[in-house]
Amino acid sequence: MSEQPPRTIVIAGGGTAGWMTAAALSRFLGKGWRIELVESDAIGTVGVGEATIPQIRLFNAGLGIDEADFLPATQGTIKLGIAFQDWVRPGHRYLHGFGQVGRALGLTPFHHFWLRARSAGQARPFGDYSLNNMAAESGRFARFEAQPPVPDMPYAYHFDAALYAAYLRTYAEARGVQRHEGRILSVERASDGNIAALRLDGDRRVAGALFIDCTGFGGLLIGEALGVSYIDWGHWLPCDRALAVPSAISGDPAPYTQATTRAAGWQWRIPLQHRTGNGLVYSSAHLSDDAAAAMLLKHLDGEALSDPRPLRFTTGKRASFWHRNCVAVGLASGFLEPLESTSIHLIQTAIARILSFLPQGAIDEADRAEYNRLTHVEYDRIRDFLILHYHANQRVGEPLWDAMRAMVLPEELARKLALWRASARISRRDEELFAEPGWTQVLIGQEMLPQAWHPLADEPSDADLDQFLNTVAGVAARASAAMPAHGDFLRRLGAHSSKVSV
Ligand code: FAD
Repeated sequence: MSEQPPRTIVIAGGGTAGWMTAAALSRFLGKGWRIELVESDAIGTVGVGEATIPQIRLFNAGLGIDEADFLPATQGTIKLGIAFQDWVRPGHRYLHGFGQVGRALGLTPFHHFWLRARSAGQARPFGDYSLNNMAAESGRFARFEAQPPVPDMPYAYHFDAALYAAYLRTYAEARGVQRHEGRILSVERASDGNIAALRLDGDRRVAGALFIDCTGFGGLLIGEALGVSYIDWGHWLPCDRALAVPSAISGDPAPYTQATTRAAGWQWRIPLQHRTGNGLVYSSAHLSDDAAAAMLLKHLDGEALSDPRPLRFTTGKRASFWHRNCVAVGLASGFLEPLESTSIHLIQTAIARILSFLPQGAIDEADRAEYNRLTHVEYDRIRDFLILHYHANQRVGEPLWDAMRAMVLPEELARKLALWRASARISRRDEELFAEPGWTQVLIGQEMLPQAWHPLADEPSDADLDQFLNTVAGVAARASAAMPAHGDFLRRLGAHSSKVSV
């Protein structure tokens, strides 16, 4: 309650989290604030965050970034969703597309009508009623103003994370962010326990009033210096290692991420303009590193462009995200594994929260507590959504997947699944990130089907229901078929883009 208002904000770390924070603070804070960033080229970044969700476009738009500059500068491509290959059983596939599936009739969500039609053998696959899914599967993309009956088509990006960080660095430095290159050797504490300064090599000292810890998994400030513990979720999300390797592109990039199940984890494929990003996420208790490398390399679409790069992590979160005068952002705050591409989004929401809770004078305990409460809820709800993908599998006889089916679920997820099974209802808690379209696509995609549907879905006659579903699927099929190929869209954008101007 007695602290002075922060005027200098020090960002420790210059990965995606550090530079996203620096760019946003330099854009939104007034002249009364000074922003400094410390990073070490010798330590480097994780740099494999390459797939995003549609909210990234709000972040870029907030910074005034033009897509026509941004996509060529980051070798970016369009992402309409994630294809889940072999998650239920080998050969099975579904897509979690962004945006709506079908459309509600009155107050009754679309999936209730689909469930009724399915039970009568009248329904196509759920994804056939989604424009995102149809466009993704046919490799097409267009930007357009949605006009009924053609629905909105939300999209995100795949990009080269190192190029994105470099792009934001140019942006932030142009707006006055001061960068210090060097290794943080120690953290100096004030008599009240707050962080006073970072001590760097070369006998340098970077002082500030508020510190943003973007130092990655190590959590140098929040964990090492301030002693905030890490809550381990390995019993729910047991994958703890990844190997990442780029490969040569083969043909036009698909406008979606692919996540393919392997015996002890899953493999991502993220198509960029200049290369394909690949990685195997696996449980070290179930697969050796050598076997993982062989498995990854065996399943590439093109020639490997380097040796696989190992990454180790523990899924979980910090016990507090804002402690004393330090806020953890990015991997320093926690890690939920990349299955639904939520890490960069968590950086983005942390930045938005820092801006909305920016201390006016002294840091107030009530602000800190609410910041932490909101962040915990966000982490917990995304965790549950990820667990669902692992839990609802039918891969009998594979030890990791057997254990995932048998696990004791977090209470809130168990409640959600019970509600779904009983009545096909999804109740969204506390503004959680994933809403009904996401949950229904994954629940139905993973073949976790409910026992009943909403009684109002029984109102239309069989013929009317059939016509309604055919109309919805027809709109998605025709609208997606009329779009240009995703590759053509990117080539046109590249041809028309000027030089990067952030
Ligand atoms: P880092 O990239 O680790 O950056 C840490 C920074 O701190 C660096 O600049 C480093 O130099 C600096 N630093 C550390 N210690 C010191 C020191 N002592 N002195 C000075 N500087 C220091 N996210 C997504 O949204 N989509 C994805 O598809 C995705 N895929 C992923 C796949 C894997 C396998 C992993 C592990 C993560 C993935 N992520 C993904 C997460 C994403 O990579 C991170 O959220 C993102 O890169 C942010 O990382 P960061 O900036 O917090 O940490």
